[in-house]
Amino acid sequence: MTLDALYRDLHEHPELSFEEVRTAAIAAAELRAAGFDVIEAIGRTGVVGVLRNGDGPTVLLRADMDALPVEEDTGLEYASSASGVMHACGHDVHVACLIGAAQQLAATRTDWHGTVVAVFQPAEEVGGGAQAMLDDGLYEKVPVPVVVLGQHVGPAPAGLLGAHPGAAFASADSIDIIVRGRGGHGSRPETTIDPVVIAAAIVGRLQTIVSREIAPQDTAVVTVGRLRAGTKNNIIPERAELGLTVRAYSEEVRLGMLAAIERIARAECVASGAPEPIIEFAESFPVTVNEHVATERTMAAFRAAFGEASVVDPGPVSGSEDVGLLATAAGVPLVYWILGGAHPESYLAAASAGTLDRDVPSNHSPHFAPEIQPTLDRGVDALVTAAREWLGS
Ligand code: ZN
Ligand code: ZN
Repeated sequence: MTLDALYRDLHEHPELSFEEVRTAAIAAAELRAAGFDVIEAIGRTGVVGVLRNGDGPTVLLRADMDALPVEEDTGLEYASSASGVMHACGHDVHVACLIGAAQQLAATRTDWHGTVVAVFQPAEEVGGGAQAMLDDGLYEKVPVPVVVLGQHVGPAPAGLLGAHPGAAFASADSIDIIVRGRGGHGSRPETTIDPVVIAAAIVGRLQTIVSREIAPQDTAVVTVGRLRAGTKNNIIPERAELGLTVRAYSEEVRLGMLAAIERIARAECVASGAPEPIIEFAESFPVTVNEHVATERTMAAFRAAFGEASVVDPGPVSGSEDVGLLATAAGVPLVYWILGGAHPESYLAAASAGTLDRDVPSNHSPHFAPEIQPTLDRGVDALVTAAREWLGS
């Protein structure tokens, strides 16, 4: 099967987070066929291939595998066959490119030495996949790398590569707060502890975190996207629920915001004489930090291989990633770059018309449809070029 056909097959058969059984089996089979030692079911559906090729550095290449609960609306002939599930974030591109890179590195093994570790990670979208692989003993089962390398396809011209040294992707935390009051009749508020008023006070007070506690030069977002209480106009409910998302580009800012949210929620409950609120920290992505020196080194290899015009610094991206955990756990640098996947001419036309947001579908859109080529070839070559830069020659 050609890589294009493999990609179309993956796109047609998307699987949700931690359910990537078919995708994992394909990755495992392709790795074995290329001569890798394969370990399956690391972190539930994760797959790792190891290719030992003499003494030399170990390099880890990572692709995530999961799809999203999105109903595909691309009209592609290879569109999703799974109702309500779609590779809307392009992780099928990542899987196909890593398979292609593994094949190419195996085929050219007389040209390099060292060890290649190919990681097919589950559940990036819900933020638990990388941690699940680490908890399952990833680095006891495979050699610890000197660098973690990976890529994410995005709405940039196909074939363009971009990495931002430093904080490259924002942190993202989901926080649920349940305010516990005392319900009663809407006409007798003095007999109740009204959780609606407390929740409203929390929402208002949370706005002071970014405006009063974060320095003007730092970037941070606190959004209450979900607020729910009550059933009827004349009933004071027992509880109110708030759902928050928090973004930052530094761990210090992130931890400061999480602490402030907890402090404000508790204090507003105390202020109203309510019991302690229930505060749950759900999905969590740390800031994704590209190590400066390693990123410069890898981008220089890209410029040498693909030309100056093919490599850019896209600046920090507001999306989030868990790939950084694989590098942090190993205590080694991360280099994670953007791989352009949009039709180049359409992209340029939309850019000059100022209609990028409308005409170039971004990740998570039901219309997200990367150009198969040159995206796949460039994605494979980028992984191979980056790996070869760090392997022995
Ligand atoms: Zn995504
Ligand atoms: Zn993604």
